[in-house]
Amino acid sequence: MIEYPIIEEAHPGLADPCGGKEAAMPPVAVEAPDEWRVLDSLAALTHHRDIDALDHSLVLTLAELTAAHSVILAKCFAEDSVLESAACCSPDPLGVYHVRPLEPAQLGASLGPMQRCLQRLEVQTETRGGLHRQLVPIVREGRAIGALQLDSALAPLRSRSLIDGFARIYANYTALLHESEHDKLTGLYNRRSLERQLQRMLQLRDTALRPRPFAVPPAREQRVTPPGEAARVWLAIVDIDHFKRINDNYGHIYGDEVILLLAQQMRACFRRGDVLFRFGGEEFVALFSATDEATVHGVLERFRAHVARFAFPLVGHVTISIGYSRIGAHDYPAVALDRADQALYFVKQHGRDGVRGYEELDASGTRGRGLAAGTIDLF
Ligand code: GH3
Ligand code: MG
Ligand code: MG
Repeated sequence: MIEYPIIEEAHPGLADPCGGKEAAMPPVAVEAPDEWRVLDSLAALTHHRDIDALDHSLVLTLAELTAAHSVILAKCFAEDSVLESAACCSPDPLGVYHVRPLEPAQLGASLGPMQRCLQRLEVQTETRGGLHRQLVPIVREGRAIGALQLDSALAPLRSRSLIDGFARIYANYTALLHESEHDKLTGLYNRRSLERQLQRMLQLRDTALRPRPFAVPPAREQRVTPPGEAARVWLAIVDIDHFKRINDNYGHIYGDEVILLLAQQMRACFRRGDVLFRFGGEEFVALFSATDEATVHGVLERFRAHVARFAFPLVGHVTISIGYSRIGAHDYPAVALDRADQALYFVKQHGRDGVRGYEELDASGTRGRGLAAGTIDLF
């Protein structure tokens, strides 16, 4: 068991974090689950390959094993311990558990202790009326990636080892999932994860751009959806111009450094909720939401101009070409990629260092003139 400082807090009451009121169900004396049940739950948990399904399963499993009043999984951006999302599992009046997402701001009185837990890696416990609350950080490589909060009648000594064990397994398993979905050099998503991320984004698109009251610093959250307007999902392909020359003139190691620095600039220019991929050697893909094409063009044009100004060590100035397209709810990823790639090809044919959208080219009748064959390897 990991030894973190344990903070015992005298609180006026354990507010129900899933309901916003006092916990509704009376505490029931529960036994610790036997090891077979725990093993079975772990096997079921590690069956998941999708992080959202894993999160869902984690809170449900812990709730069922401890007959909990509630279990909360809060997740944060590892770099700065800012809460990003939370999921809560609690029983309905019939005792059936349900998992639902929570905005971090909805955590109410739990928010402060949760943030302290994430920032100081503190385990916190408190007891009231026979109900015990345990708050445990989920730690990966010395940093909190999230926290688990469990309210249960199970004796803290028993539930502590369970929640600790699950937090460590979750940290280890998500590290493996993370590795399989990310590019080693840049840390961006890899090509394999495009389809899954695209589906996720399409599901989230109606909520993706709503201003988030707590999680995201305002400077990074500028594209706000007007009320009543659904955000659309867009796909952009970014390709470095004349990259072969960089490799030829400076060698592959400097070529790799340009790829890495470009990925860093991309991270800095796009919002946190935007999903960025290294798609191939010096090709990148961005998935993001915006309501209209003018906004999309502005975002991408700003990024292009930023890169053109950026001084890469030794290599100096490098330019990029960008093609983009809107993704319909029923489009296959390959279709969206192909359209964005045709727009990219148009930019390459017309001087490089530019940004063009498939729909805009299509509407202006340019389709068919330089749009026919793309540059990217789709499969
Ligand atoms: P264009 O402006 O038309 O895009 O010209 P380009 O020279 O960039 O052409 P292209 O995109 O076809 O070439 C990509 C080159 O990138 C080919 C390959 O040698 C190089 N490359 C691919 N993967 C890597 C990598 O991981 N590291 C480095 N250093 N080079 C790579
Ligand atoms: Mg290329
Ligand atoms: Mg290129």
